[in-house]
Amino acid sequence: MGRYSQNGHLVNMNKNYEILFEPVKIGPVVAPNRFYQVPHASGMTEANPRVRASFRATKAEGGWGVVSTGAVSTHPSSDDSPLPFARLWDDNDIRSHAMACDAIHEHGSLAAVELWHGGAAVMNRTSRMAPYSPSGIPWAATHVGFMGHLRPRIMDAGDIRDVINWQVAAARRARSAGFDIVYIYAGMGYLGYEFLLEEYNHRTDAYGGSVENRVRFVKELIEATKDAVGDTCAVALRISMEELRAKASEHYASQAHEVVSLLSDLPDLWDVKMDSSPTDCGASRFRPEGAHEPVIDFVRQVTDKPVVGVGRFTSPDTMVSQIKRGILDLIGGARPSIADPFLPKKIQQGREDEIRECIGCNICISSWHDGVPVRCTQNATAGEEWRKNWHPEVFSKPGSDDQILIVGGGPAGLEAGLIAARRGYQVTIADRAAEFGGRLIYETSLPGLNTWGRVRDYRLYALQQMGNVNLYNNSELGADDILGLGHQRVAIATGSAWTKSLYSSLEIPVGELDDPSVYTPDDLAAGVKPEGPVLVFDFDNYYLGGVVAESLAQQGSPVTYATPAGHASAWTIMTNELPFVHQALHKHGVAVHTQTLLESFDGNQATIKDIFTGEAQSLNVNSVVIVGLRLPTDNLYHELMARPDDLEAAGIKSLERIGDALAAGALVHAVYSGHAYARQLDVLQDELYLRDIPVAEIPPGPVIALSGD
Ligand code: ADP
Ligand code: SF4
Repeated sequence: MGRYSQNGHLVNMNKNYEILFEPVKIGPVVAPNRFYQVPHASGMTEANPRVRASFRATKAEGGWGVVSTGAVSTHPSSDDSPLPFARLWDDNDIRSHAMACDAIHEHGSLAAVELWHGGAAVMNRTSRMAPYSPSGIPWAATHVGFMGHLRPRIMDAGDIRDVINWQVAAARRARSAGFDIVYIYAGMGYLGYEFLLEEYNHRTDAYGGSVENRVRFVKELIEATKDAVGDTCAVALRISMEELRAKASEHYASQAHEVVSLLSDLPDLWDVKMDSSPTDCGASRFRPEGAHEPVIDFVRQVTDKPVVGVGRFTSPDTMVSQIKRGILDLIGGARPSIADPFLPKKIQQGREDEIRECIGCNICISSWHDGVPVRCTQNATAGEEWRKNWHPEVFSKPGSDDQILIVGGGPAGLEAGLIAARRGYQVTIADRAAEFGGRLIYETSLPGLNTWGRVRDYRLYALQQMGNVNLYNNSELGADDILGLGHQRVAIATGSAWTKSLYSSLEIPVGELDDPSVYTPDDLAAGVKPEGPVLVFDFDNYYLGGVVAESLAQQGSPVTYATPAGHASAWTIMTNELPFVHQALHKHGVAVHTQTLLESFDGNQATIKDIFTGEAQSLNVNSVVIVGLRLPTDNLYHELMARPDDLEAAGIKSLERIGDALAAGALVHAVYSGHAYARQLDVLQDELYLRDIPVAEIPPGPVIALSGD
């Protein structure tokens, strides 16, 4: 299949990639190709049925042969609130799922549903039922990380029957909704997985003890689901392998080998993964593409059924290699499918250089933890397909002949320029730096952050292919330059600046330290090398303070890291990075002080203070780097706004700030801001609305009679 690329050349699919487009039989259904969007959270519950349907259908449109839901609870005893899970608790829940299935089927893809019982890993905060567990052992991460304090009940034989019956009822509802593949979930600390692990399963009945007994619950879930829907739906098992693979088995290479051998050809599909979110959805800072392989590589040798697995695959060569080497049959994608729903189509059309590759920042996961629809750094349209009517590959025509000037070519400026250019506007982007990329130029040089450069590279490459774009580097613009350039619309994307503010015991930024050996990340970006020993004082709490400390230590300085928060880079708990930040700091000999304020610094000595007890401590350091408050660099904007007559005389119809120049944030905020700016050019204000329709207003869908109920 051929297609014109961005630079107007007819291109065809690379022959090596044809294998990726072969159909794969999965039980009674056939996936049209090997691109399989594995289950992943979307933050879109039954309350947002159209948001969810559009989000998933866009991936089907983009060529994913199978498109799955996130976790769909089978019963109120599996209630993960306040996290935004989905459910199939009763027949009323069918319609909203049917809407998504129909939308996925419209593009010829299969729809899969990840039926799920959370066991002891959920707190049932809304349903107020006692959580279920094999032996009353709480799931550690749930209790420590997410502050639950309700301990689970111990399931008796009747409870086991109940859970299986709830799975069966949900599976039947799933079939009624139109799903083609129905899951059993035995991973990530949820109920099936708790039965598999001896730490959580102390039972002395037929469901505990030997591996054969511990696997029985999962086996019965599969058998019951197959009996209920297996004639028309494929039945998939999603299972975590990391801990089982590390456990010795009497007769097999590991307990993972034993479990897979015992279940072998029972499920129609094996969906294999790691055990906890930080390893399963590893951030690129700490984990490369394909990091799952050493754990899951044996499964395909132990079963004749197809195997799907993930690994943040964005390179078609890596995907082909996974198949040719016999690791996977289907290329699983969660994050790559969020960052670029059209990844398969781009490969099929020979446009793989246009793939918007996931950067592995895990902002998508943070949005699940935030309880909102999925947000993505690379793809500003993710989650906005319905609400804002934003399609990742389709753009409305320009509403005028206005020429657009964007001052600043960081993530916000590049995204605004790209989207405005794709709409057809004549776009100019000017940046004072020698290179485009803004903050990314420095930040991608820090340990583990190289992959984030894809935010710049994807946009810059695309912009360079377009005839309606002028890119000027080494071009600092002042107010008079802007007034003289003859553009009708100006976006100020000049970023932000780190301040030397301290942090008070009232937990607000206060007056700055003025010693000449106090620096900010902007100084480091400009090439300053602080004299060691260095104290990094971080109250930004995202990645930068931790990674700056790691980088300085790597360069040979003795480094102390202090923060008022309870952990280093505390917010990275939201992006699955926190444990690895601490490991990295430890590895590089960085002393970490948490719950700490910086009191004073005289060039040789810093005084830090415990935030609760006030106990002071002196540190012999020659430099301090403060990673704290960041404020917009918006002087250009204010200078121009103070000259309304000049703006009018210059024919400038609009002057706006975007990205960090408006409000300093993470990359995801800058890209979104740039995207929104360009989408909204010449669009009437009343067309910019958020929309969703309550589920009750959805016309009755294709709900068919439940057979066998
Ligand atoms: P954002 O994340 O909002 O895109 P960045 O800080 O990454 O912000 O990028 C801002 C960019 O703006 C930087 O590349 C910087 O060089 C550029 N810039 C700042 N002031 C000017 C100016 N007056 N003229 C041209 N470019 C500018
Ligand atoms: Fe990838 Fe980051 Fe987007 Fe998640 S938010 S899909 S990790 S680019």
